[in-house]
Amino acid sequence: MKRTVMNCLDELEEIAAYWIGRHFPRPDIALGDEVDEPFCSWCGQTEDVLSFCTCGTRTLPWSRVIRLGSYKPPLSTCLIRGKYSRWYEVLELIGHRLGRRVRGCVPPHTVVVPMPMPYLRWWFRGINHSAVLAKYVAQSAGLQRCNPLLRKETPPQAGLSASGRTRLKINTIRSFPWANLRGKPVVLVDDVLTTGRTLEVASKALKSIGASTITVAVAAVTNYEESPKKVISASFTH
Ligand SMILES: [Zn+2]
Repeated sequence: MKRTVMNCLDELEEIAAYWIGRHFPRPDIALGDEVDEPFCSWCGQTEDVLSFCTCGTRTLPWSRVIRLGSYKPPLSTCLIRGKYSRWYEVLELIGHRLGRRVRGCVPPHTVVVPMPMPYLRWWFRGINHSAVLAKYVAQSAGLQRCNPLLRKETPPQAGLSASGRTRLKINTIRSFPWANLRGKPVVLVDDVLTTGRTLEVASKALKSIGASTITVAVAAVTNYEESPKKVISASFTH
């Protein structure tokens, strides 16, 4: 039953994308070739002379980060247009590329879980970008997916400062009462990792319903070089 509802929502989203998304360029041209930058496998930060990781000063609830690249054009612009202009096809391509990186890195019984979006925001935006990414991550990685999480309406994280993001309360993301992931490894999918606070809150909700390990799969990671002081001073306690 749950699967049928999920399939119907997928179909509706694809039909809407067909009618709305015709004016966009070809996704593979807009997104360009895949880049392979070295990055920290725990916090996801690019490993170069300009960026730095804060793994030594934080405890993260996931065991690994898999990403496509840094949050910079053309990846960042494609994500923004995917999310706010309902460019379904570019999210589909990003999901496939991310799924290929996930494939083989997790056990075959792993489930793919999208970062939940508040229903009202979903209604107004007309697209649930994390759910679209998760659909194609699961497809390319050959994994099952499910939606065990629910998110309360709060201001979008994209509009908040780094310290504002870390204040996101732990009860903002909860699991459905019937959700059960006992002993299952999970791949948690989102578009961007900035401070990691939303992913941290979602990871805790997944652990509370029995997820054994959590791998974070994100399209892009914001490097701390852009605002190191704000991110470093942000506290991860609650
Ligand atoms: Zn790190």
